[in-house]
Order: sequence, then structure tokens, then C-alpha cells
Amino acid sequence: MHYLDNASTTKVTESAATAVLNAMINQFGNPSSVHSLGIEAEGIVERARSEIAKSLGCKPEEIIFTSGGTEADNLAVIRGAELLKRRGRHIITTEIEHSAVTNAAKYLEENGFEVTYLAPAKDGAVAIADIEKAIRPDTILLSMMLANNETGVLQPVVEASRLLKAKNPFALVHSDAVQGYLKRRFTVNSLGVDMLSISAHKIHGPKGAGALYIRNGIKLKPMTHGGGQESGLRSGTEAVPAIAGFGEAVKEAFSTLPDNISYVDKLREMLQEGLKNLPGVTEIASGGSIINIAVPKYPTEVIIRMLESRQIYVSGGSACSRGKKSRILEAMRVPQNLLKSSIRISLSWHNSEDDIHALLEALKQIS
Ligand code: PLP
Repeated sequence: MHYLDNASTTKVTESAATAVLNAMINQFGNPSSVHSLGIEAEGIVERARSEIAKSLGCKPEEIIFTSGGTEADNLAVIRGAELLKRRGRHIITTEIEHSAVTNAAKYLEENGFEVTYLAPAKDGAVAIADIEKAIRPDTILLSMMLANNETGVLQPVVEASRLLKAKNPFALVHSDAVQGYLKRRFTVNSLGVDMLSISAHKIHGPKGAGALYIRNGIKLKPMTHGGGQESGLRSGTEAVPAIAGFGEAVKEAFSTLPDNISYVDKLREMLQEGLKNLPGVTEIASGGSIINIAVPKYPTEVIIRMLESRQIYVSGGSACSRGKKSRILEAMRVPQNLLKSSIRISLSWHNSEDDIHALLEALKQIS
């Protein structure tokens, strides 16, 4: 089988799965319990927090565990905006965010905030000039993803943050880095962000764990109220098994990050070279581990099924927008004939050259 849908989710590594299992059947205490089993479970959570902090270049206390990228995005966007509502009510985001950010921004619009959604240019990235134009004296929050989940295209988070902070030093910058984390080299300081969302299941960790980096000194209000876990920001007993697997997956991926990046680049370039010999296939956009292509002869669903019958797994865009036309590609003004037959190929450092050969061969047969 050739799994090329790693932007939807990834296979959990053996060592991450072992960490999950151990946290379920051996170190199963509640991190809030004062006895030794509790302390052991607390140790697992804190070690995972430290691994994540190391990988992001921040302090462990700046990491809050969540149930995934969606919850981290909601917490950052909604509570970030509410924190600064006395200074202004204008928010900037983009048209190509994941629905976790877009729908959080819509919720804010229904509650008295004004949101500017920046459109991407044809290459899939938001233009810096457009960011500059959008900033107003009452802009309090900018939320811009690091790498797009359908095209892999990097967004100008660094420049956007610089521009906003120069005009409004009080404003907050959030980045949804779910698709960029451990696939690109960055730290929270190199990006210039105050908040950053990540998710375990995109980096070979388990589903149901994610985290939000919140710069020290930013006092968000919690979304859930209860026992005060996670510095009072996310009450509820910690998901120790999922967090254990998250920490292990981060440790593994971060220890070989430069090699993983160059290996995935090599696989992507190999695929792109091969596609040049296939006149029936058009590359729409690509970046890092993601390539979006179209086979205009067939609609997306048919291409997915034809590849699946050859044991090749890809997707038609984000997993959450199943069956719908891609709003990301629409925002990029991709022509309808390409849009309707687009598929997303997303790679991981666990893929092999054989996966690329199999895909190219299959595309050659169907295109
Ligand atoms: N943000 C981006 C860019 C994503 O690709 C995803 C996952 O599809 C999410 C957020 C949501 O993450 P999770 O599935 O962990 O809630």
C-alpha cells in the first residue's frame, strides 16, 4: 500500500504507540493524584511538554495541551480577540485558513468583531502588500497559517507579524502551524508569533492531542471551566496516553528534522520531475510535503477511486471538506476544469521512492 495522504493524518510510529500503550496500562495514574502513580503520569505530561517546547524554541510553561489543532485554533482566535476587545475589534486572517480558524473568525463576526479575509495570489501565498493595506489602528489580532493544508504553500507569517507589530505593538499574532510543524524549520521567535497551534496526528503521533503555544504574559480566558489543569486554561484530566504518544512522536521527528526535510524535498522533486512527462496531469501548486495536481480527464472522486484500486491513497483536498469543491483552490482562482479534478498528494519522511514510482505509474495509466 502507498499512503500519500499524510496531510489528512499519519500512521502512528511504533515508539509513539508503545508510549500510548504504556500510559494506558502501566503508568495509568491521574496526573493530579499525589501518590506515586499520579506523579509518574504527571512526569509523562511534563516530559512531553518539554519535548514540544524544545522543538518550538519556547519554555515548557508556554505550552498548553489541547485535544488537537482545532481546539488550539479556537482558543487562540476567540480568546485572543476577546482579550484585546477594548483596544479594537478588527481581526485579519486569510481566505485559505483551515475551517478551525475560519469558523472561529465567523463566530467572532457574529459577536461584534470585524474580520478581513485576505485572498491569496495565484501562487497560493497571501501578498505582503495586501497585509499592509489591511492593518488598521483597531487591528488587534492576525491569524495566518504557516503552510497551507491543500497546497503546502508557505504564508508570509514573519513579514505579516513584523508589519502588524510595527503599527500596533499591542496586537497578537497567531499561526496555525499544524501543517508546517516538524516539516519546516522554525521557532516561535523566528516566526514572531504570540500563539501557535500544532497537532499530534499530523506528525505520526496519535489523534486527540494537540497544543497551543502562548507567549508568557498573555492571559487568555479558558474555554472550559473545571479543575484548573493546564494553568487553568484547559480544565479536565489530561489525556495522558495521547500526550505521551505526542511527546514521543515529537522527540523522534525533531531529532532528525533536517534529514526529514531534505528527504521529503527529494521525494517531492522526484514526483514533480516525473509529472513533467505526463501531459495529462497538471501541477496546481506545491510546497514542502504537499503537491496539488489535476488530471482534467476525470473528476476528483473518480481519480481517488482509481488510485485506491491500485492501493494508492490520496485525497481531494482537506479531509474535512469531503465532497465539496476546494475553497482554497477557488480563492487562488484555479480554473474550474482543474479545480474539479484536483487531488492532493501529501508526503511524509516515512514514504519511500517506491511510493512515488507507484503513483507516477498509476497516473501514467489513467491520465
Ligand atoms: N489546521 C490545519 C491547517 C489542519 O490541516 C488541520 C487538520 O486537518 C487542523 C487545523 C485541525 O487539526 P485537528 O485535526 O488536530 O483538530
